[in-house]
Amino acid sequence: MELTPSAGMARSGISVAVIGGGIGGLAAALSLLRAGVDVHVYERARALSEVGAGIQVSANCSRILHRLELAEALARMGVKPLAWHQRRWDDGRTLLRTPLAEAVESAFGFPHYQMHRADVLEALARALPAERLHVGHRFTELVDHGARVDAVFENGTRVSVDALVGADGIHSTVRHAVFGPERPHFTGCVAYRGLVPAERLADLDLEVTSQIWLGPGKHFVHYFVQSRRLVNFVAVIEQDAWTRESWTDRGEVADALAAFAGWHPQVRE
Ligand SMILES: Cc1cc2nc3c(=O)[nH]c(=O)nc-3n(C[C@H](O)[C@H](O)[C@H](O)COP(=O)(O)OP(=O)(O)OC[C@H]3O[C@@H](n4cnc5c(N)ncnc54)[C@H](O)[C@@H]3O)c2cc1C
Repeated sequence: MELTPSAGMARSGISVAVIGGGIGGLAAALSLLRAGVDVHVYERARALSEVGAGIQVSANCSRILHRLELAEALARMGVKPLAWHQRRWDDGRTLLRTPLAEAVESAFGFPHYQMHRADVLEALARALPAERLHVGHRFTELVDHGARVDAVFENGTRVSVDALVGADGIHSTVRHAVFGPERPHFTGCVAYRGLVPAERLADLDLEVTSQIWLGPGKHFVHYFVQSRRLVNFVAVIEQDAWTRESWTDRGEVADALAAFAGWHPQVRE
């Protein structure tokens, strides 16, 4: 099957295929579209479903998303933290408190948000004309013709474009096709992460800050997302080895609790 990119908003005469419909791919596509480029996104998943947990959208990022006319969606789903609050792992003492919210907006002109990855993804996907997003397209190889490049997909689709953008994540097939095999470098950190309905933590009376608990060989981060309906947590431990790189491996609550034995009751709850 051969796809001809539709004209749509394109004015430049340049055609681009973006591989991967994550935050990077969708943001790149929207920016290219606004610049008049005939851009299409190819995503291997059958749908852009709700995946991921909390992400920090700092002012340099929200500036770009505002330019893509997503300010309203960010304000609706995002949470503006009052501060970064660093605390000691055992007694909860404050180590550092840096104001965010108004301080960030007045310094940089744009807000800092805490968001659910799915909300950012949805806002980006809504802004992209539906005919420019092709789900169920797993990129497998490229053929470089110099001035043009062909992208080939597992489902038999082949597109010919002026340029191809690899935005297909950490296990990028595009990177592999261009640069050959690369082994990810393990940083020595493994994170337990999760989302908790905020009402289940009501007794903690959590402040609307990004709290970072620092202790020996570990740290624990938590903050509200999704209009304060959910609390995101990330519990980072250092260890020598890990066999898989994945955002979706399952961990056990008991193991996480054991790793944070002796930590402050707020962290353990
Ligand atoms: C499932 C998941 C959950 C995540 N959760 C979090 C989180 O909770 N907190 C956080 O801070 N960050 C999270 N991230 C990472 C964060 O979203 C990204 O690191 C960051 O936004 C950079 O995005 P990206 O678009 O470069 O890559 P990614 O977000 O990894 O997106 C890459 C996209 O490319 C697609 N793709 C991969 N291979 C192919 C192929 N061969 N052909 C076509 N499409 C392909 C993938 O399906 C994916 O949609 C998550 C990423 C994923 C994939």
